[in-house]
Amino acid sequence: MMSSVERMAEAATSRMIERLRARGIRDESVLAAMQRVPRARFVEDGLALNAYDDTPLPIGFQQTISQPIVVARMLEILLAGRASLGRTLEVGAGCGYQAAVMSSLASEVFAVERIRGLIEAAKENLRPLRLANVRMKHADGMLGLAQVAPFDSIIVAAGAPQIPVALVEQLAPGGRLLAPVGDQSTQQLVLVERRENNTFTESRYDVVRFVPLLAGTE
Ligand code: SAH
Repeated sequence: MMSSVERMAEAATSRMIERLRARGIRDESVLAAMQRVPRARFVEDGLALNAYDDTPLPIGFQQTISQPIVVARMLEILLAGRASLGRTLEVGAGCGYQAAVMSSLASEVFAVERIRGLIEAAKENLRPLRLANVRMKHADGMLGLAQVAPFDSIIVAAGAPQIPVALVEQLAPGGRLLAPVGDQSTQQLVLVERRENNTFTESRYDVVRFVPLLAGTE
C-alpha cells in the first residue's frame, strides 16, 4: 500500500516526466527510469517541495543535484541506439540521484564521488531503494576505476577543459563516454565513442553548466 506522501511524490514525478517530454525528451526507457526514482529523497528536507522543478538544487558542500532535463538529455545521448548502458561508470555521484536513475538502464553502475560527506549521503539516499546493481565509491573519478574497467558507458557529471585520459582509456570497444567540456562558466556535452576497431569519434551536443571537475578527494 502506498502512503499519501508516496502518492503525492509519484504524481509530482509524473508531472516532471510530462514536462521533460514537452521539452523534447523522446527516449521512453529514460523517462521510465526517471519515473521510478523519487527525486525528493535526494534533496535536503526543506527543499522537498522543489524537488520536481526543473532546476538544479543545493545538496551541500557547494555542490548541486543536476536538473532533471540535463539528466534526461545526458542519458538519452549516452543510450542512443543501445538496449542498455551496460557496465557504467559515473564520475561525480553527488547525492546519488543520477546513479539511481541509471540503475534500471545499466547492468551495473559504479558511481564515484570525491567528497566523502556526499558519498555517505548518497549511500543513505539509495539504501531504501534497494538497487542491487549500484556501487558507490569515495575516489577521484578523474582516474576512472581501473579495478573494474573497462566500461560500456561513462558519464561525467562535472565540467572540465579536457576529458581525463584515464577515462577514455577505460572505455570498452563500442563504449561511449559523455562529459561536459569547457571552462568554469559554460561547457558543451561531448560524446566520445570507441569503435570496435579502437578508433575514437567525437560529437558535440548541448551547452550546459556544471560544477567543476576537481582532482583528488576530500
Ligand atoms: N550526479 C549528480 C550531480 C553531482 S554534481 C546528480 O545526480 O545530481 C557533480 C559532483 O561531481 C559533485 O558532487 C562533485 O563533488 C563531484 N566531483 C567533482 N570532481 C570529481 C572527481 N574528480 N571525482 C569524483 N567526483 C567529482
